[in-house]
This record gives sequence, C-alpha cells and structure tokens, in this order.
Amino acid sequence: MLIDNHGRTINYLRLAVTDRCNLRCAYCMPEHGALFAKRDALLSLEELKRVSSIMVDMGISKIRITGGEPFVRKDIMPLLAHLSELKGLEEISITTNATGIGPHIEDLKRYGIRNINVSLDAIRPETFKKITKRDTFQYVYDNLVHLITEGFNARINFVVLEDQNIEDIYALMELQERFPIGVRFLEEMPFNGTDRNFNTLQWDYKRILEHIQKRYPDFTKIEGPATSTSINYQIPGHKGTFGLIPSFSRTFCGSCNRIRITATGDVITCLYGKPKANLKQLLADNKSDNAVRNLIKDVLGKRAKTGFEAQQQDELAFKRSMTAIGG
Ligand code: SAM
Ligand code: SF4
Repeated sequence: MLIDNHGRTINYLRLAVTDRCNLRCAYCMPEHGALFAKRDALLSLEELKRVSSIMVDMGISKIRITGGEPFVRKDIMPLLAHLSELKGLEEISITTNATGIGPHIEDLKRYGIRNINVSLDAIRPETFKKITKRDTFQYVYDNLVHLITEGFNARINFVVLEDQNIEDIYALMELQERFPIGVRFLEEMPFNGTDRNFNTLQWDYKRILEHIQKRYPDFTKIEGPATSTSINYQIPGHKGTFGLIPSFSRTFCGSCNRIRITATGDVITCLYGKPKANLKQLLADNKSDNAVRNLIKDVLGKRAKTGFEAQQQDELAFKRSMTAIGG
C-alpha cells in the first residue's frame, strides 16, 4: 500500500501517455508554438506498461489515462489491453476530447473499460471552435452519443470560461436532463502555457452553482467517496447528474489519493507543484523494479499537504501547460 507523509492512502494514478494533442483548447495550451517534448523523451509503450505494472503492484487500484490527447498515441490500444489484464487494477478510466475515440469503442468494451470522461466546453459549434481552434464539434458530439448508447459511464468535463461559454452551461444542463450522463463544471486553472495568469477567478464553483440554481432551484446533493474531487447533484426527473469541480479553489486537497506520471516520466504529487522526480532514465536503463519503487516512495514521503502549499514552493506553478502536466 502507498501512503504519503500525511497518512493519506495513494491508490489512484493519473498516467499521461502523450503531451501532443489535435486540439488547441485556449485554457490548456497556446494555439501556436506549444512546447512539446522530443519524441525520444516520451515513455515508450514498454515503459508505460512496466511502470503501470509496478504501480499496481505497489497498491494503485485505479488508473486514469490522460494526456495530451490519449487517442493521438498510435499504441494506446496495446497499452489499454495490458492494463485490462493487471490483477489488482480495479478501474481503468480515460479522459479524452473524444475526437478520435469512435473506431476504438468496441475494443474499449472488450477490455472492460467503462468510465470515459469527455471534454466538451460548448454545445454551440462556433463556440467549440473558438475554444479548441478546431472544427471538430460534430465528431465529439456523435462519439459522445455513441458512448452513451453503448452503455459507457460517460461524463462530460466542461471548463467554465468567463466571456466564452457561460451561455452553454444551461444547454449542458439540458443534456444531463435527457441523457444518463454526469456533467461536471470545472473551475479554470492557470495552466495554459502562456503568460495569461490569474490569482482570482471570475467563475468559481459557488458562482457556477448559483447560476445553475437560478434555472434549476430544486436539487439534492449526492454523497460520494471522501476522495472525490467533484461535488455532485441530482435534479428530480433528470436522467443524469451534474457536479462542480473546485479545481482552482482546491477544497478537496485534504483527502487527495492521487499521483501523476507525465508522458515524459515526471512524477507529480500535486497539480500545483513542480515534478518531484523523473522515471525516464531509470526505465530506459532498465533499472530494477526496486529502484522505481524507491523513487515513488521517496517522493510520496515529501508531499505538500495542499495545492496551496505546493504552489508556494514553486515559482513556475502558473507557467505550465496542462498538456505537459497531464490533466
Ligand atoms: N485531451 C484530453 C481531454 O481534453 O479530455 C485529456 C487531457 S486534458 C489536459 C484533461 C482535462 O483537463 C480536460 O478535461 C480538460 O478540460 C482539463 N483542463 C485542461 N486545462 C485546464 C485548465 N487550465 N483548467 C481546468 N481544466 C483544464
Ligand atoms: Fe488537447 Fe485536452 Fe488540452 Fe484540449 S484540454 S488542448 S483536448 S489536451
């Protein structure tokens, strides 16, 4: 079992498989000149398989595949096949922009992968294009409907962006009224890889909830696990649910159960802090499993307690891009 220096059990790995992406969401990376790692700096398929096996052996029971966009990686399906065979791994989930997931849906079902988070920040195609800089709304929407009809536990991640997609919040609420999906509204974080930083937020989770409440005053809170980062609600008669993720307000840090490994092998113990170690060389040099284990234990022994503490220790916290951190 993995336990950090604050006594928290760490059983959830967020594994970024690439820092590349076919979209250019403005809140995540710059439209031009995004700084991608060199190809040979990325973990290879064999390295990703090995590090996942070691982490599961150490007590990780849930892995979320993220990026960059996981499905731009050509060997993503062999990795998922490997994960589906790991004993002790209870849950595999994926966060994706869903532009390229369509051809893989049958295989995902075969591997027993049920939990797919789809990032969708607009329901109006022109707004979607403004935010992502690409004209792919229809692919995303069609794939989302396909996932729902195939019985996946599909959830939507919607980053609330001042002056950009506020009008779409109610449209997303209507989606969860009609479909059995969870729509989660995320606070924006200043991880866009540009100089556009902020220390206060126009749309924090309280304001988002007040906005929703104006149209939907009647809802009940759904009790979830203590480690959940979202606060979820159900409206009577609606097929789905909605939730809020205070990703900038960081109300959930106390019960954090997660660790991140980026596409280049950086080990990150908090989104708001710098990488604490790197696994690439150890893996490339085929060092022992124990060497990898010791590195992981070492970083978990020096973890910041909250995102605010991690941010204080890192002057570059707000200079990074989410695609390099691994979402
Ligand atoms: N490409 C995939 C996708 O978009 O779902 C996976 C990677 S993306 C970095 C993971 C999640 O992080 C997405 O839901 C995205 O909306 C969210 N995200 C990215 N940058 C963010 C930011 N600056 N603030 C809040 N959420 C962000
Ligand atoms: Fe790509 Fe996801 Fe970042 Fe959008 S949020 S640019 S889809 S990695």
